[in-house]
Amino acid sequence: MKSARIKNSKEEYAIGKIVCVGRNYAEHAKELGNEIPDKPVLFLKPASALIYSSGEIIHPEYGNELHHEVELVLLIGGTVRKADKAQSEKAIIGYGVGLDMTLRDVQDGLKKKGHPWTLAKCFDTSAAISDFVLKKDYRIKPDEKLELKVNGVIKQNDTLKSMIFNPAEIVEYISSIMTLEKGDLIFTGTPAGVSRVNRGDKLEAKLGEITSLSCFII
Ligand code: MG
Repeated sequence: MKSARIKNSKEEYAIGKIVCVGRNYAEHAKELGNEIPDKPVLFLKPASALIYSSGEIIHPEYGNELHHEVELVLLIGGTVRKADKAQSEKAIIGYGVGLDMTLRDVQDGLKKKGHPWTLAKCFDTSAAISDFVLKKDYRIKPDEKLELKVNGVIKQNDTLKSMIFNPAEIVEYISSIMTLEKGDLIFTGTPAGVSRVNRGDKLEAKLGEITSLSCFII
C-alpha cells in the first residue's frame, strides 16, 4: 500500500485511487491540438504507479516519447459524494506537486483508435509525488507557481490561476461521478510546455516554495 507523506510530519495517508484531469490548461490543450473541454476530462492511474521524490522513473520499452506533465496534486481528507462547492473545498486537505508521466506516441495511437489511455498513463512509476502540505498549515494562492525543470532548464512554468477548472470545481465534478475517499489523490492537469525526456534526464518539479520533487529517468 502506498501512502501520501506529509511534509515535516510523520503523518501518512494510505492512498486509494488516483483521479487525473486532462486538458485543464487552455494553452496545453492547444499545444496538443485538443479542444478546450466544457467538463473536466477524467482518467485514473493505479496507486501502484506512484513513486516519491528521489525515486526513479522507468522509461517503458514500448513507447518512444515519454513526456513530463507537472501538476498540482490534491489530497482528499474524507468521504465525499455528490458534494457541493463548499463540501468539495473542505474535502481537500492538502496539496502536493506531481508528475503525470505520459507516453505521448502511445497515447496518440490510442486516441486515434478510440481506446482508453491506460497504456500511455498507468505504467509503473508514471505518477511521481512530492510530500504534501496540509491546508491547515498553508493556504494555497491562485498565483502559486507550478514549475518543471529538465536538467536544470525550465520547461513548464505557470500559475494555478491558468487552470480552467479550479480544485473545488474538480472535486465537485468527480464526486458527482464517483465517491472520493480519504487518501485519494487528484492530479489536476498540466500547463503548456510538455516535452520529451530521455533516460538519464533529471526532472525537478516545484509548487511555489511549498513543496518539490526530483526524479531521474532510467
Ligand atoms: Mg496530465
